[in-house]
Amino acid sequence: MLNKSEHIELSIVIPTCNEEGNIVPMYQRLLAVMNEIQVSNFEFVFVDDGSSDQSLLRIQELRATDSRVKFIQLSRNFGHQNALKAGLDHAKGAAVISMDADLQHPPELIPTLFEKWKAGFEVVYTIRKDDQKVPLLKKWTSKGFYRLTNKLAEIPMEEGTADFRLLDRKVVDALKKYTESHLFLRGIIPSLGFKQIGIPYTPHARVSGQTKYSFSKMLRFALTGITSSSAKPLYFSIYAGLFFALLAFLYGMYAIYIAAFTNEAITGWTSIIASILFIGGIQLIMIGIVGIYLGKLFIQSKNRPLYLITEKELD
Ligand code: UDP
Ligand code: MG
Repeated sequence: MLNKSEHIELSIVIPTCNEEGNIVPMYQRLLAVMNEIQVSNFEFVFVDDGSSDQSLLRIQELRATDSRVKFIQLSRNFGHQNALKAGLDHAKGAAVISMDADLQHPPELIPTLFEKWKAGFEVVYTIRKDDQKVPLLKKWTSKGFYRLTNKLAEIPMEEGTADFRLLDRKVVDALKKYTESHLFLRGIIPSLGFKQIGIPYTPHARVSGQTKYSFSKMLRFALTGITSSSAKPLYFSIYAGLFFALLAFLYGMYAIYIAAFTNEAITGWTSIIASILFIGGIQLIMIGIVGIYLGKLFIQSKNRPLYLITEKELD
């Protein structure tokens, strides 16, 4: 066993939820890469995010043969972002790389990330260059999401950035001050400042198991992302309200004119119903937007921990 105070140069943080088939291949690929780079000391920190399969057992088996494998077991599933936060909070490296357990983030990119860090960059993020291996739906939804968020957020996020990046110790420590619920790391990190650089890569197909992000989960993630990096959606209702008030005013003028100067009457049951439904729909959407922010305030005001730990072995 390494002693506690030993300096660790590089930590690899891997949030893991039901990835039993990926852990051993992941470990082997990581190890091969570690042998390639000039790193004095490293650790692999797996965060078991409430897996219901044998993931934790696989990790513990690895740990029995290699003490550089460490783990944190969360008390239940807290979600990818919180698992990642748990890993970042506990990693000891002077540089910390976070990546997925399913080998979609190729470990072979690590030497490049590490080199950039050695060259003085404090955040080395990766930019996914999509190819045919990424499902079409994911590609489109992801593109739309980045476009929309960047329109709304004050600090733009580069398209295709995911939670595969290297952070310097300074940045990891800065992130520890962020205790917000509904964490959205890929929106926070560009806003931190520091010396940042992006590296393009082509994602690989998942080695085993299934994605945990269904379409509805992605939609929720997108809403979380937009509403955590910007308050602009709250202003929509004002603009929409002004627009429709103007429209109503013009129409009112028109109705008065018809009544005063012609013998016709304005008919239109259909147009009334259509406009009521339309305006009603818009109002509900706006209330929903306010509701999202209010819900976030509610959760945040309770200040609950982002994750709970059942067991950890980090030495
Ligand atoms: N993950 C997690 N908790 C969750 C969902 C996912 O820790 O609740 C992990 C998962 O094991 C993987 C990473 O987060 O290592 C990304 O998940 P996934 O591959 O399912 O997402 P995708 O790559 O399809 O966006
Ligand atoms: Mg994945």
